[in-house]
Amino acid sequence: MQRLSSWICGEWREGTGAQSPLYNPTTEAVVAETSTAGLDLGGALSYARNVGGTALREMSFAERGAMLKALSKAIHAVREELIEIGRLNAGNTRGDAKFDIDGATGTLMYYAKLGESLGDQRVLLDGDAIQIGGARLSGQHILSGRPGAAIHINAFNFPAWGLAEKAACAILAGMPVVSKPATSTAYMTWAMVQAVAQSGVLPEGVLSLVCGSAHDLLDHAEWSDVVAFTGGADTAARIRSHSRLLETGAAVNLEADSLNSTVLVPNAKDVTYDAFIRDVAKELTQKAGQKCTATRRILVPEDQADEFVEDLGERLDQIVVGDPGLKGVHMGPLATQSQVGAAQEGISALRAEADVVYGSTKRGEVKGVDGDTGYFVSPLILRARDAHAGQAVHDVEVFGPVATILPYDGSADAACQLVRRGQGSLVSSIYGDDRQFLRDAIHGLAGWNGRLMLTDAKVAEQAYPPGMALPHLLHGGPGRAGGGEELGGQRGMRLYQQRTAIQGNGPLIARFLEG
Ligand code: NAP
Repeated sequence: MQRLSSWICGEWREGTGAQSPLYNPTTEAVVAETSTAGLDLGGALSYARNVGGTALREMSFAERGAMLKALSKAIHAVREELIEIGRLNAGNTRGDAKFDIDGATGTLMYYAKLGESLGDQRVLLDGDAIQIGGARLSGQHILSGRPGAAIHINAFNFPAWGLAEKAACAILAGMPVVSKPATSTAYMTWAMVQAVAQSGVLPEGVLSLVCGSAHDLLDHAEWSDVVAFTGGADTAARIRSHSRLLETGAAVNLEADSLNSTVLVPNAKDVTYDAFIRDVAKELTQKAGQKCTATRRILVPEDQADEFVEDLGERLDQIVVGDPGLKGVHMGPLATQSQVGAAQEGISALRAEADVVYGSTKRGEVKGVDGDTGYFVSPLILRARDAHAGQAVHDVEVFGPVATILPYDGSADAACQLVRRGQGSLVSSIYGDDRQFLRDAIHGLAGWNGRLMLTDAKVAEQAYPPGMALPHLLHGGPGRAGGGEELGGQRGMRLYQQRTAIQGNGPLIARFLEG
């Protein structure tokens, strides 16, 4: 069994005392263990600030970008090993693991290129110089890396991408990273950081790993630090109200759960409808539905709902659930036993307002796994009895292969009303060819969503599924989704930067800021 350690203060350190077990969700065998008890997490943050931060502040964007490129390559070099760990500790099929790992290296590469394009500067100009008096007297806003550490707390479902997408933005902005993956699936993150440490591509202190419980990590936060969290709404609320963070004024960014919607517009062309079916099925089953961006609510015009259930059912019939290591298996188990319990509780709440129209409320047929072993949940589609009257269907996120059809009257107005009931979402997607409907959806939904995806016949075949977060575009959402923002190119760096107004002799300041 693998003992996972933490990479802090420039070395690998093991926690003491009782270890937390990490499981194989297919066989329920323990595959690794870890502990952070007794580790000096305050010291880890100081080391990152003082050693990593100092190194990064001396580097230009191009140099930081080159470092991200090397980081991406070091992770890519152990891709096969990571895919195997994804199967072992997260129940990933090969496709699921690639989605996570290639998403990680791709995002690092995207930010590497952005760094290259920002060139030799160490700070960014924010707008033009502003004349504030006589000919030479002016002011210029600049953005520079905050002088603390970026403390990243991640969810269990993306152990590779979760580290990379946050680290790419922070490191390019000039902040050292202390990353804490969720304990249950930390094996992959640990293996990534092992590869990075061995490659020697990062200066000391630029990346640290806390592998296991957060313990007193946040008690050591300083005003100059940034905490970026991804996970459930309850933990997000605890972090939002953490006394040390409130006291110091450290910056906090939260990405929490979300009742994402997809909308079928009446009279969609065949190619648009096919893309709708394709993407609903993908979002339901990819990573066993354990994606924060997965679709939870499916809005379909009332008069098309029966036909949709039939067409989606035909598609889902092709999905083989089972041991993710077997050829021909499309969907593996949930990551942990407690996730199965939470999913079953959520399904019960939904069934008070919705009927099962596809799948089983139990584990269903599972290929290559005996008896009741493993954390399996069948793909499940429910249909709300009354989408407008329902409450749980807009409120309960079942973090698994489960979604609810909300029949609506076909008007943009009704669709917007239903989507808004999610009280702030990461993403909503609209599939249709009625241009007035699509226009109304942008105006009616933008304020309620971090991302809106419009798919018409002209883009249907090339469009990505809505659950795929891209480095170029914003990831995050208002309200229930946490109110945070990540990625979106240069926008993602903003969390890690201080804006400063530099006031004085304009031409002189301009010269100082050139290099
Ligand atoms: P979670 O239980 O909230 O845990 C998230 C992270 O917070 C883990 O690393 C966890 O560490 C840590 N944590 C727990 N209590 C803490 C505390 N008191 N102080 C500091 N850190 C603490 O969430 P999860 O079960 O991993 O993830 C599932 C949820 O995340 C779902 O609801 C999903 O919607 C959401 N999610 C959102 C996004 C997004 O981008 N918006 C992305 C992915 C997932 P331990 O594991 O050591 O307890």
